[in-house]
Amino acid sequence: MSQSVKAILLMQNYLQHSKSFKGLTPKNWTFVAYDDAGESWRNTSSLRCHCGKLLRYRYTFKYIGDLSVIDNLLDADKEDVRKQNGIVYFGETCFNHKILGLSNEQSNNLVTGIKTIRQQALRYLQNDETLKKALEAQRHLIKLLGYNKISFPGYVNELDQMDLPINREQMGELQDLYEAHVQTMPRPRSSVRYRNLEEIEITPRPNSILQDDPLTAELFLQRYGAIEAGKEVSALELAYEIDVQSPNHYGYYSSGKPYLYSEIVLYLDNEQRRGNVIITNKGWDDILFKKRRDA
Ligand SMILES: [Zn+2]
Repeated sequence: MSQSVKAILLMQNYLQHSKSFKGLTPKNWTFVAYDDAGESWRNTSSLRCHCGKLLRYRYTFKYIGDLSVIDNLLDADKEDVRKQNGIVYFGETCFNHKILGLSNEQSNNLVTGIKTIRQQALRYLQNDETLKKALEAQRHLIKLLGYNKISFPGYVNELDQMDLPINREQMGELQDLYEAHVQTMPRPRSSVRYRNLEEIEITPRPNSILQDDPLTAELFLQRYGAIEAGKEVSALELAYEIDVQSPNHYGYYSSGKPYLYSEIVLYLDNEQRRGNVIITNKGWDDILFKKRRDA
C-alpha cells in the first residue's frame, strides 16, 4: 500500500470515527473524502474549495437530507450545492463558510481538530518508530479487550489488519471501555508488586494464587509443561490465557495485566534461577521467555 493511499485511509477513518470531530460537524453534514494534492500542489493542484481557493488538502462533505432546509444560504451557494447533490468542498481555512452553519468558535475548533488529525496521520506515516509504538500499544489493547470479551468498533480491527493505527483519541475511547470493565472486576487478592524482574518484592503472600488454588495451579502447570523448548513465549499472554480458563477468574491490575501475571513472573524467575528457563526479554510491558532445550 502506498503512503498516499495510507494517508487517505487514515484521514477518512479519523474523520469518520473521531468523536470530537463528530461533535463539531452539524449532524446533517457528513464527511465524504479527503484528498491531498501533494507537495507541488501550487503548480499541479486541481483541487478547489467551495469558495474557489486552490488547495493542497481538500475535505469533501455532503449534506444529507432535504436541500430546501438550507435555503437560508446565499443564492449562489444554494445553486452550487443543489447542482452537486449536496456535495461541498472545503480547504483547511474555510470551515467558517456559512454553509455548515457553524459559529466562529465551532469553525475554529473544526479547523484545529482537522489539522491535528492530519498531523497525527502524517507522523505515523513518516516515522517508523512512532508507527511501530502506536501499533504495539493498539494490539496490546485489542488483545485485552478480546480476552475480556469487551466489544469495540469494527473499524479498529479493520485498520489494525492493514498495519494502520487508530488515533490517540480513538485509543482513549478504547481505554475507557477497558477501564469501565476493570471497575467491575474483583479486588486484588495478591499483594505482589514489582517494577521489573530485579525489583520483585517477594512479600509474604497469604493469598498466592498458584499456591492456594490447586485448580488454577494445575491449569498453569499443564499449559506450561506443554510449551516446547526453545520457543519464545510471552508471560503476559500466558497469564491471560490461564486467567480466562480459570473458573476463579482473578482479574486485573489497573495496568490491565492479570494478577496471575506477577505470579507467573515469579515462577519464571525461579525457573531461571534453576537453569530451566531463559528470560529473553524483560520489560515493564511483558516478559518473554524460552524453556531451555537441555533442561
Ligand atoms: Zn474555501
